[in-house]
Order: sequence, then structure tokens, then C-alpha cells
Amino acid sequence: MIGGALAVLLALGGGGYYLNTTAPAAYVVINGETVGIVESVNNGEKLLEQVLEEEGAPVGEVAKTHDQIEYTTARIDNGYTPLTKEELKGKLSFFIEAVELKIADHPMFTLASQAEADKLLKAYEEMYVKEDENNKLTAVTFEEEVEIQDVEALPEAITTVAEALEVLKQGNVQKEEYVVEENDSWWLIARKNDLKTVEVLAANPGATLDTIIKPGEKIAIEKVSPYLTVVFEGTKTATETIPFDVETKVDNKLASGTSKVTKAGADGEKVVTYSYVQKNDKIVTKTIVDEKVTKEAVSQVVTKGPQRVQVASASRGSGLVPALVRPYGGYVSSYYGYRGSEFHTGIDYAGSSGDPFVAAAAGTVVAAGRQGNYGNCILVDHGNGIQTRYAHASKILVKVGQSVSQGETIGLVGSTGRSTGSHLHFEIIVNGDTVNPANYVR
Ligand SMILES: [Zn+2]
Repeated sequence: MIGGALAVLLALGGGGYYLNTTAPAAYVVINGETVGIVESVNNGEKLLEQVLEEEGAPVGEVAKTHDQIEYTTARIDNGYTPLTKEELKGKLSFFIEAVELKIADHPMFTLASQAEADKLLKAYEEMYVKEDENNKLTAVTFEEEVEIQDVEALPEAITTVAEALEVLKQGNVQKEEYVVEENDSWWLIARKNDLKTVEVLAANPGATLDTIIKPGEKIAIEKVSPYLTVVFEGTKTATETIPFDVETKVDNKLASGTSKVTKAGADGEKVVTYSYVQKNDKIVTKTIVDEKVTKEAVSQVVTKGPQRVQVASASRGSGLVPALVRPYGGYVSSYYGYRGSEFHTGIDYAGSSGDPFVAAAAGTVVAAGRQGNYGNCILVDHGNGIQTRYAHASKILVKVGQSVSQGETIGLVGSTGRSTGSHLHFEIIVNGDTVNPANYVR
């Protein structure tokens, strides 16, 4: 039992308050105003503790207050109703000792603590690179200046790690204007801007694939740039496929224009270690530091009949297009035309990876290599504005500038680029526009 006058100075949340009591019951005085009675100073303190905990709980912290809280002696003869938690809450203002995360001088988020800010940055990094025994990071930095400063914030102004991560993931969306060019289509505009057709349509309310666009017309393009760019430096070890080579032999006993695999090829394997620099999801440099072949590739032998004699135009469509042969024998898994919201610019022949495919007509190879969604892709020019394209190859067997004859093997079927299974994507292009291949080849 406390006897006589007693004064204790307590420090809390930067403020201070006096305990001055001679009897169990005490008045609670906030910033000089008496707001209620508590059974004892001890009870008052517990009540305050609860209030601060509850206010901070949504952000996982204990809230603080700058309000001055004092207790003074209450001599009560009659009964009284003690101050409730809710009443105390209503009399105080709270803050969280939080941090502000700035990226390139722009305040981005207020987070509950330094630990939360660290958690956010780590989660963002791990979206792109997760370290494991085969992928060791040697340095992780940010391209933009990242600052974390202590701030006092209202509990409701605090962003959770999940919310902040979502904002970083979305990136900064900027609207740009695009002027429609000759021969443009929604699909082509998407392709030129590294976007999906649906994304281009979404930026232009009311537009559908059927909306006609004319050259010179302005449409909106939404480009996304990241708020934060993580620069990773590391070393990665991976098992890679060594694609097999193909040898072609001519057998005059075989029918003209036919070919068959007389010895199946087999891919080899190698373990490659490389150092890399990666910015967010893009690898910017990759240097091989070690390479070990663990399994040699076996060449495939293709035997084909003698060269087919070129027949004069037997085209089924435009008289402009030379007689084309089907480049590959697989069944048609997708035709030319709308496929959901996207326009499919070619015909897909399903098949087995490694099967040879041939040039549909004689011509000159004008492109051969990796090309975005097309993967390994070959473009053959046949003159008179006619070109054919062969995409998703597992292997390209021709070089730019090379002349190819009709029926000549130019590559192997695969699933490179944006592809869900082994197939040959074949396009016929007349004066820069794709046409329906089904009108020219069977
Ligand atoms: Zn296709």
C-alpha cells in the first residue's frame, strides 16, 4: 500500500508524465485536460499499453503518442465509471515510428519498420533471381538510388509489404501516342511495341480486333517501366542441350521430293557455367566461364529423293505466288486467322522435335536466327514480293544470303520462342502481308 505523496517520472514515447497519487483511484489528464478516472495508476498504464498495442497491431508495431499523459489524485466518495479503452483511444493521437522508402528521390512507400523495408526489397529481388547451389549471386545493387528514412506516420498511412510489392510488380504505366502506319494491324502494333494485342486494345477503350485503324490515326499505347531496377551479378551452372546436326544424303531410289530419316539424331548435353549480369528479368551479359560436354550429340541422317523438277505455276490462290510445297508433313494444329483475341498469322503443323522441314519454294534466306516469339526463325525471299517464314525451329540449317531450292531441308521442327509444343509455324507473306497458307499449300 502506498502511503503519503509520491511522484514518479516515467518516460514513454518521447513524452513524459507524472505519477502523483495518494489514493488508488486516479484522474487521467491528457494535455492538461481531465478525461476520466481509472481504478489505479497501474490500471491506467495497462489501459494505455493496450491502446497503443491495438492501434499498432494492424501494422505489427506498437503505436506511440506525443500526447502528455498525467495521473492526479482522485478522492471519490461515491461510485464512478472507470475510463474505457475506447474513450482513451478517442482522446489520443497516435503515430508509428516507421520508415519511408524513396526511389530516385520519389517517396514510394511508408513501411512499418526497417525490417519491413528490407523484406520488401528482398521479395522484389527474389521475383527475379533466387539464389541456390547452381546460382550464386556475387553482387546485388539497385540502378536507382534507394533511401530508407525514419519517419513518424499515422498507422493508416503504413503500407504492407504485400501491397508495396504489388505496386513495384506493376511498374510505372505511362501512356504514349502511336501513329498508325501503312499496313498496321492491332496485332502488328502489339508486336512492334513488345506488347500483347489485348494490352494494346485495353489502352484504347471501345477498340476491338474488328475496329478499323487507318494510317496516320493516333492510338494509345501503355508502356510499363519499372520503378526499381535490381542489378544482379552472379554465376550460374546449367545443363544445356547440344542440338544434333543433320546430314542430308541423296538416294535416287526415293521418290522425288520425299525424304526420310535413315538415322535418328540424338541431342547431347553439356554443363555450362557462366557469369552474368541481369537487370530485373533481363540478362544483359552472359560470359561462359566453363563448359563440359557430358554427352556427345549424334548426327541425324536424312535421305531424300532427287530434286523435284520445278513445275510452272500451279498455285491455288493468287497467280503471283509460285507453286509452293508444304514445308512439313505434320497435321495442321492451328489455322490462319483469329485465335481467341489474337490473330494467328500462319499455319501450325504439329510434329516431333528434330524432324526436318523444307523450303516451300526456291529462294534466298533473308533472315535466320532468334526472333522473339518466333524463336529460331527463317525467312526466305522468293522474289516478286513473296516470302515464307518458318518459326519455332529447334535448329536452323541455313544462313542468311544462302540460296535454297524447293524441298531443301532448311531446319528442324522445335518449340523455341512462344510455343506450347513442337510444331512448325509457317507463314506466307505477299507484299509484306501474311496471307492464308491454306490457299497455297495443302
Ligand atoms: Zn503458329
